[in-house]
Amino acid sequence: MFAYGLSVRYGRSIAVSLQRFQELSHSGRAMSSAAKVLPQYQQFLDEAKLIRQKAYINGKWNDACDGATFEVRNPATGDRITSVADCSAKDVHQAINAAQKAFKTWRDTTAKERSVILRRWADLMTKHQKELAMILTAENGKPLAEAEAEVASGASFFEWYSEEARHITGDIINAPFKDRQFFVIKEPVGVAAMITPWNFPSSMLARKVSAALAAGCTCVMKPASETPLSALALVQLGEEAGVPPGVLNIVTGTNAAEIGKILCESPLIAKISFTGSTNVGKLLIQQSASTVKRMSMELGGHAPFIVFNSADIKAAAEAALFSKFRASGQTCVCANRILVQDKIYDAFADQLAELIDKKLRVGNGFESGTTQGPLISKKAIDKVAKHVEDALQRGGKLLSGGQKHPAGEQFFAPTLIRDVPTDALICNEETFGPVAPLVRFAEEDEAVAIANSVRVGLAGYFYSQDVAQIWRVAKRLEVGMVGANTAMISSVEAPFGGVKESGMGREGSRYGLDDYLNIKYICLGGL
Ligand code: ADP
Repeated sequence: MFAYGLSVRYGRSIAVSLQRFQELSHSGRAMSSAAKVLPQYQQFLDEAKLIRQKAYINGKWNDACDGATFEVRNPATGDRITSVADCSAKDVHQAINAAQKAFKTWRDTTAKERSVILRRWADLMTKHQKELAMILTAENGKPLAEAEAEVASGASFFEWYSEEARHITGDIINAPFKDRQFFVIKEPVGVAAMITPWNFPSSMLARKVSAALAAGCTCVMKPASETPLSALALVQLGEEAGVPPGVLNIVTGTNAAEIGKILCESPLIAKISFTGSTNVGKLLIQQSASTVKRMSMELGGHAPFIVFNSADIKAAAEAALFSKFRASGQTCVCANRILVQDKIYDAFADQLAELIDKKLRVGNGFESGTTQGPLISKKAIDKVAKHVEDALQRGGKLLSGGQKHPAGEQFFAPTLIRDVPTDALICNEETFGPVAPLVRFAEEDEAVAIANSVRVGLAGYFYSQDVAQIWRVAKRLEVGMVGANTAMISSVEAPFGGVKESGMGREGSRYGLDDYLNIKYICLGGL
């Protein structure tokens, strides 16, 4: 899914500590308890050069103005990894001012200059892929292989936008007057504020900051407090890549509401780019109304995954497994409702149950072979348990899982429930966990109506071998992204984004630059 050419060359000291780490974690083999992994990765984290604890403002690593810090914990074990600056209003204003000042020179750099820096940043991410992945697994819990893929995906955004930076062009429009000529040029919008989530703490930031810098914008970033370390490590590499002081600023903190409000209401910020929940997205739109900002919103989804009678059942079941259980179901594009047509319903249910049993392994993300890490918080576990209980109360039948997993407090067993009615909570609210509900349908129209019945529309998937049906359904699904006979839709070349309450704007692809550019029309007269 994340194809990216990787040539990993480590500095000697990191190579030694990584090798040691790997030996240790493999010697621990039967690590059924998540806690047993701690000493091994703690040693790695102690030696990791990319672990940063401070905010980065105007080219300097600073403590929070009031010296406050907060703890970052590993969701697999609950153990403290480190403590990080807990920024408040004063820090945020300093970051905004630095970004505003730097914009005056950064916007006038040539596209080639920006491109060279972005390319170096991509290469540095690739060079440090393993270390970045370990930091990511430590703070987010996802399996190391998934973390490595995420870092590769993040690097690919820097690579892509290093190229796109040089393709920002304008237009010459023929005027209907002999004495005038019309031109269209594109200019960076200004200072962009970025608020990012914990589920892809590395690649979401990379996707935003690479496009912003390519366009000539400067940034103030606020990562999720659960996972600030991946973002800080990226900024460290950005500094090494040669991003000038003030162009990149990052404030970490637990008071997201306060930081978010300042960013939204500041007249010095021209744009908010947010990835997170629909509720917070709506709040940020409201708060930004008084200063009429450009908004990019990547909000929640509730992806339908439809399997029609003509589908290749095996391929569909494998894709459903990938889509539903990657990152333990904590992705905004993951299948939230699996709709299966009558004739193949039982066969599909059996295949998916078998795959869950055979292919998924719950455990610490550092253990080799783990496919299912922990959920991010106890609150997330409670929500998943509530969705399962509700679906079963309404007549759903449990085929796999259904309860917490013994690997630790924040682990939930991969769960499959069949015969779930469409009024169940899970069919209407985003679950963000490893639960696959199967819903039966008879006709195509019925499936499309169920798919479109929610207020969000990010991704939608379906399996069918009927060409006319493929085109019809792809057009009728009210989503921003369709996977027809595939669930692997993410790629730097393709536009990512949703419709309805899943948000506005697109990230990645050539369209992703538009969100950071203003169009200016120049009418040259007196000719
Ligand atoms: P989730 O529920 O998945 O954590 P959120 O939307 O709450 O999703 O979080 C996404 C990002 O938004 C995180 O960086 C979080 O700190 C931030 N955030 C949460 N609440 C607010 C808020 N009121 N204003 C601004 N940012 C917020």
